[in-house]
Amino acid sequence: MLANSLIELDRAHLIHPVASYRGHEKLGVRVLKSASGATVTDATGRQLLDGFAGLWCVNAGYGHESIVQAAARQMRELAYATGYFGLGSEPAIRLAAELAQRAPGDLNHVYFSLGGSDAVDSTVRFVRYYWHAKGEPRRDQFISIEQGYHGSSTVGAGLTALPAFHAGFGVPYDWQHKIPSPYPYRNPVGEDAAAIIASSLAALEAKIESVGADRIASFYAEPIQGSGGVIVPPRGWIKALRDLCSRHGILFIADEVITGFGRTGPLFACSEDDIVPDFMTTAKGLTSGYAPMGAVFMSDKVYDVIADGAGNAAVGHGQTYSGHPVSAAVGLAVLNLYEDGLLDNGVRAGRRLMAGLESLRDHPLVGDVRGRGMLAAIELVIDKEKKIPLPAAADPSRRIFDRAWENGLVVRAFAQGVIGYAPPLCCTESEIDAMIERTRKTLDQTLDDPDVR
Ligand code: PMP
Repeated sequence: MLANSLIELDRAHLIHPVASYRGHEKLGVRVLKSASGATVTDATGRQLLDGFAGLWCVNAGYGHESIVQAAARQMRELAYATGYFGLGSEPAIRLAAELAQRAPGDLNHVYFSLGGSDAVDSTVRFVRYYWHAKGEPRRDQFISIEQGYHGSSTVGAGLTALPAFHAGFGVPYDWQHKIPSPYPYRNPVGEDAAAIIASSLAALEAKIESVGADRIASFYAEPIQGSGGVIVPPRGWIKALRDLCSRHGILFIADEVITGFGRTGPLFACSEDDIVPDFMTTAKGLTSGYAPMGAVFMSDKVYDVIADGAGNAAVGHGQTYSGHPVSAAVGLAVLNLYEDGLLDNGVRAGRRLMAGLESLRDHPLVGDVRGRGMLAAIELVIDKEKKIPLPAAADPSRRIFDRAWENGLVVRAFAQGVIGYAPPLCCTESEIDAMIERTRKTLDQTLDDPDVR
């Protein structure tokens, strides 16, 4: 009864992110009610394993009392403090310091945003300000990568390279350029790592040449392309691109909104990839989704240029909730959990996840298996030899999502027949095994579905 009335209220009033509004009105909302560890319970009482950690964000898992206590304590003591007017709060300062200490290289300065989109948006503003301060205002062209995702702010949606974020919105702008995705499974140069790296380098060189090296402000890359379908570039790819940008004086931004905070194993994927970007954007795992927050990491070099350039003037970039003390207190509690065994557990669970997904390669629908740590995907095809995708007309992502749901598993079903996994790092081996088992059942049902074959 409660669920039915919620469905009506939702239909009438709540606009959902990235949804077909009319489609959603027909289907109605599925209400989530509670969660603990890696298990979520919906309003009908159905229990599901959350193979996607909410929206690749609940890295710590649900229901940690230490996080709840940290938030409650902070709300009681000081619910809000602005960072304007030279004011601050202890949790925001401490979190910035703890993060800087763990970040790669000289990424020693942290600007807190409310999430990933405004973290990316902030970098665009900082990058432009940097080049003005350097006396090179002509550097106002930005490059990102096809199938990349950098949020849905007005400017960030143009750096994002997924059609739904562009159509009807008037982006990308003419100063936003793209190079092809490294996508090993479907790369025209094949799956060889060296060939993929060489081809990305050539594409970036060509773009720099055509736009003009002295015009390019910055380049954006995700260590693993998340929303584009969990596309895992070969080892060495991001370092090669970073080096190329350095040679041309182009600022390099690593978007670690998904990969940050243990998702691929270490706290930051950049550390494992042995690069120090000029900016690093994070969100999601920063607070494990318990409170909204993102963080932009800025290098000493960039910070000093901006600071000196502004002199006594204010750098006019800020938000009411930047460095919100409750979110920051949550971030500190979450960081404790990561370092108190959760990252290690994630590495173990990640090995189990990858081995489990690899075991699905024998399934007639599984064309590709890819991932790193607790971030993975399988790509379904109807013909493995020719890599023919599932027919889009059958809306395979909706069918796969619904079947997995019926089987007690939440996954991300991408439109192109890719199933994405980003389970909480707290998963036990038996929970991972159950996710694989439920996936196999979902694949078998999909194989038996005449509309999808
Ligand atoms: N960058 C990347 C790499 C992301 O994956 C996302 C979100 N999935 C964003 C930016 C935007 O973050 P948010 O949804 O918190 O605004």
